[in-house]
Amino acid sequence: MNLILLGAPGAGKGTQGKSLSEKYRIPQISTGDILRANVRSKTQLGQKAKEYMDKGALVPNEIVVHMVVGRIQEEDARNGFILDGFPRTIAQAEALDATLKSMNKKIDAVIGIEVDRKELTRRLSGRRVCRKCGASYHVIFNPPVNIGMCNACGSEIYQRDDDKEETIEARLKVYEDETLPLAEYYSSKGLYRAIDGKGPVDQITESIVGAIEGSHNS
Ligand code: AMP
Repeated sequence: MNLILLGAPGAGKGTQGKSLSEKYRIPQISTGDILRANVRSKTQLGQKAKEYMDKGALVPNEIVVHMVVGRIQEEDARNGFILDGFPRTIAQAEALDATLKSMNKKIDAVIGIEVDRKELTRRLSGRRVCRKCGASYHVIFNPPVNIGMCNACGSEIYQRDDDKEETIEARLKVYEDETLPLAEYYSSKGLYRAIDGKGPVDQITESIVGAIEGSHNS
């Protein structure tokens, strides 16, 4: 099964993608995670991407498309994948369609996790993530048991540079201008399923699973 998780920064794509990846035993492919790994290890790609990421802007399409095209052809994605944070523009979606077509594959469902702007800002400004395993926390709503330390792996948790107040607004604006039109793009193909992204994490996972299985049987 090939899934896309669509939604604004802070909507919960990473959190839901992780649960779905475990449930369906297919990899979660997060372009943000791949880019951050490149920034950390100071690859050429990472150095170029960082300039855009720090401003809350999108990294140029050709960089991310190339990354995803390579990744979905890896062995572990043979039985399916969950795209988290890609596509983010119509051009990326079209490039993905062309790649999947050449592989004789298709997208089965696009899950749009919908959360209002006020809640997104609240989530992003308090978000902290684990440097090592990527687990996500919130300083007020979901703090780690030990301050500054990941519950899952004990590594350091930190605030992403782009979760700082001044960058959040830019990212939400980019989302509204560039990414939101994808809801219409996938609706017109009959693939889009909107999910209310507010409420308990497990309940949202259940709604997503319901929507996926509905799509699958239809
Ligand atoms: P994320 O972790 O998904 O919020 O992504 C963090 C940052 O990585 C974004 O603000 C962009 O700068 C960059 N990025 C991630 N995915 C994409 C994409 N599909 N297209 C362009 N830039 C991306």
